[in-house]
Amino acid sequence: MALIVHKYGGTSMGSPERIRNVAKRVAKWARAGHQMIVVPSAMSGETNRLLGLAKELSPEMVTPSMLRELDMIASTGEQVSVGLLSLALQAEGMEAVSYAGWQVPIRTDSSFTKARIESIDDSRVRADLAAGKVVVITGFQGVDADGNISTLGRGGSDTSAVAVAAALKAEECLIYTDVDGVYTTDPRIVAEARRLHTISFEEMLEMASLGSKVLQIRSVEFAGKYRVPLRVLSSFTPWDIDIDEEAESGTLITFEEDEKMEQAVVSGIAFNRDEAKISLLGVPDKPGIAFHILGPVAEANIDVDVIIQNVSHDGRTDFSFTVHRNDYQRTMDLLKSAVLPTTGGAELTGDPKICKVSIVGIGMRSHVGVASKMFRALAEEGINIQMISTSEIKTSVVIDEKYMELAVRTLHKAFDLEQTGS
Ligand code: ASP
Ligand code: MG
Repeated sequence: MALIVHKYGGTSMGSPERIRNVAKRVAKWARAGHQMIVVPSAMSGETNRLLGLAKELSPEMVTPSMLRELDMIASTGEQVSVGLLSLALQAEGMEAVSYAGWQVPIRTDSSFTKARIESIDDSRVRADLAAGKVVVITGFQGVDADGNISTLGRGGSDTSAVAVAAALKAEECLIYTDVDGVYTTDPRIVAEARRLHTISFEEMLEMASLGSKVLQIRSVEFAGKYRVPLRVLSSFTPWDIDIDEEAESGTLITFEEDEKMEQAVVSGIAFNRDEAKISLLGVPDKPGIAFHILGPVAEANIDVDVIIQNVSHDGRTDFSFTVHRNDYQRTMDLLKSAVLPTTGGAELTGDPKICKVSIVGIGMRSHVGVASKMFRALAEEGINIQMISTSEIKTSVVIDEKYMELAVRTLHKAFDLEQTGS
């Protein structure tokens, strides 16, 4: 008998009929002898609806006290979900009990709308499990030290589920979602994209941060930190599918690089369309220049991604970086007013229509020539690389947005990702 956490996304919780299916699936697992904790999201569309209502009354959410109310509102979607699911489980003949975050409690800091989990008290949940109950806990929400309700950021139910699994040392955390696993790349762009049976935690972290939207990135960080075995699988299989088959389906995020790991050098192609590039040409090349340019950007709370500074010529250099496209105009304005006047005649240019495409794979640690293979494949398609950044297990290129799909398809093919793996 194992302790298992199931997480169900909004689509899986989208209607009474779907909630009934979730209940039947969970009941199947409980009847197979497992102790079950379920963490559902709000019903699909509900969080957006709630946030929309809030916006009508307060278009600009700027103060912490406004954000506090936003969390009060947004967290209700999950509260409805746990109550409904617990009822559906009881209708299936199970003993079930639902809890909001504050009842567990799941303690967070006070950064409303993007709170971080600090601790989870497992005693209440353990007692229920010992009494044979299925425990249904809200995703997305928690409570701060002063008793205020907080939320963990959009997509935060993934993180709730992983955190609960970590706190209770669950054997596995199963994330049921509307895709049937993690793919080599987005199947909407490459029809031959293939589901990965396993992916290492580090690769998953890169894939999630590079724009693959399967899991909230914080949930992957959490899983890594506490070594929670995580599986992404479909909630659209029939609920009465054989449980052993179900337990092996989807994509397992692993920690050991064991024989079961697929041996490909590159495991996936990730991409991000939402980037913009900004360059300062001919800035004086002297100590402190990078800080002079990026200091004000950081102070304005704008995230900077890829950064490049060129070799200098005659004491001047070019400095480029990328930001989220939503921050493009703000960053340009900021540089114009706060940086340009003191950079001795530098020129400011920008391009909001760029994207980033990355190859990811732990095999890159032990293989040479992977990046050059990437560059050659792109060159053969006439795709110009504007910026490059690398880490131990990924290489990213910044290119013109209009070549994004071509680049993803080209790289998927160049690294033989369409071929069936293990
Ligand atoms: N309901 C929240 C959202 O829509 C949390 C989640 O679904 O994970 O972002
Ligand atoms: Mg989600």
